[in-house]
Amino acid sequence: MAVDRYDFAIIGGGIGGAAFGKAMAERGASVLVLERTKTFADRIRGEWIAPWGVAELKELGLYDAVMERGAHELPGFTRYSGRSGTRRDIVASARPGIPAVSFFHPDAQEAILNAALAAGATVERGAVVQDVRRTPGGAVLSVRTGGGDRDVNARFVVAADGRDSTMRGSAGFEIRRSPAVRYTAGLMFEGIDIDATSAHMWINPGIGSVAYLFPHGPGVGRAFVVLGERSESLETPEGFVMECLRAGVRRDVYRAAKPIGLLATVAASDRWVDHPYHDGVALIGDAAGTSDPTWGQGIATTLRDVRLLRDALGGDDDLDRAGHAYADLHDLFWQTVLELESWATTLMLEAGPEADARRRHAMGLWKDDHSRSPDVLISGPDGYVLDEPARHRYFGED
Ligand SMILES: Cc1cc2nc3c(=O)[nH]c(=O)nc-3n(C[C@H](O)[C@H](O)[C@H](O)COP(=O)(O)OP(=O)(O)OC[C@H]3O[C@@H](n4cnc5c(N)ncnc54)[C@H](O)[C@@H]3O)c2cc1C
Repeated sequence: MAVDRYDFAIIGGGIGGAAFGKAMAERGASVLVLERTKTFADRIRGEWIAPWGVAELKELGLYDAVMERGAHELPGFTRYSGRSGTRRDIVASARPGIPAVSFFHPDAQEAILNAALAAGATVERGAVVQDVRRTPGGAVLSVRTGGGDRDVNARFVVAADGRDSTMRGSAGFEIRRSPAVRYTAGLMFEGIDIDATSAHMWINPGIGSVAYLFPHGPGVGRAFVVLGERSESLETPEGFVMECLRAGVRRDVYRAAKPIGLLATVAASDRWVDHPYHDGVALIGDAAGTSDPTWGQGIATTLRDVRLLRDALGGDDDLDRAGHAYADLHDLFWQTVLELESWATTLMLEAGPEADARRRHAMGLWKDDHSRSPDVLISGPDGYVLDEPARHRYFGED
């Protein structure tokens, strides 16, 4: 059986794995990216990167590659309450000072994997990693391809195998999860009538539903609906549009719209690993922490992981110490994102008269004092301390 040896073996060539492959290959390391699929297909995944994630994309030198592959800048974020929307200029008002970005997810994956290849990484498509075994000074991966099975040796393994990661179990990490499950359906449309320079979010707390539209350009865009319960209505494009209207979208937005491609629903809760590194294996992206898509943070957190791990490994010859340093930094920012998401879910999505009163009270206070509502989901987690006093200020209980 042939045996390959690399500095870094990366399991999964999605946005996280490919971005990390590029980052380490351009630092001169020998890198192997193993990706299960031969071509990227629509799986209903993230198509909006929050501005703080776009800053990470730029920092990783991937912005131009994604833009050249058809990504679209969104300098606005419009949130609707009832029928009326308020457009926020996120370039002027959020810390990164740059627009958000939307794209067709498979195109972004392809662009980033090509960037890894161009930087000198070896990329294998149609290669499925079966398991990871620790060895003195590294690890061995069992890899299955059309041509048979073989072992790959690596000094350091990065599992970037997504939200259903099997590698985190294989590598002995314990998975934590929040009990609440929400259901997100996605569908692309052409012929939509909406401002193409803004992301759009509608919330209907009465039924706990959220609708999004992320234009990919004039008239074309990705729509998502998030519901607290699985619904048969999300199985047809007509039912999907009906759920968008129930969330508050004006009928004329979809009057001339035609669905394009796959319609599917994904069940999602927060799932994560504390300290996503041990014994030569690091987890990044969704494998380290999958957040509820309701708040659109997954790509930003994935890109943050890539940068933190790259910098930790670049600054220390001791790979084990670098792995632990990465995991400490990951936990800090991840817990901030998770905490803010849980506050937002409680405040924005709970139904009933008590929840309505709490919302009115808290959001009324925010109007006069923006600092009550930490801008984690747009500006990023840095600098925010989400302790008990911050929680009281958020909910207006101080
Ligand atoms: C419905 C939905 C909507 C979302 N919306 C947003 C949004 O608007 N904004 C946002 O920021 N985030 C959003 N997200 C989250 C975002 O899509 C993810 O956080 C992001 O794609 C994670 O990237 P990743 O590289 O970690 O994982 P993935 O993109 O899942 O990549 C994992 C890769 O690993 C490969 N793989 C898996 N197992 C193996 C194996 N054993 N061997 C080899 N290869 C393997 C897979 O084929 C895949 O290509 C959404 C998620 C969902 C489900």
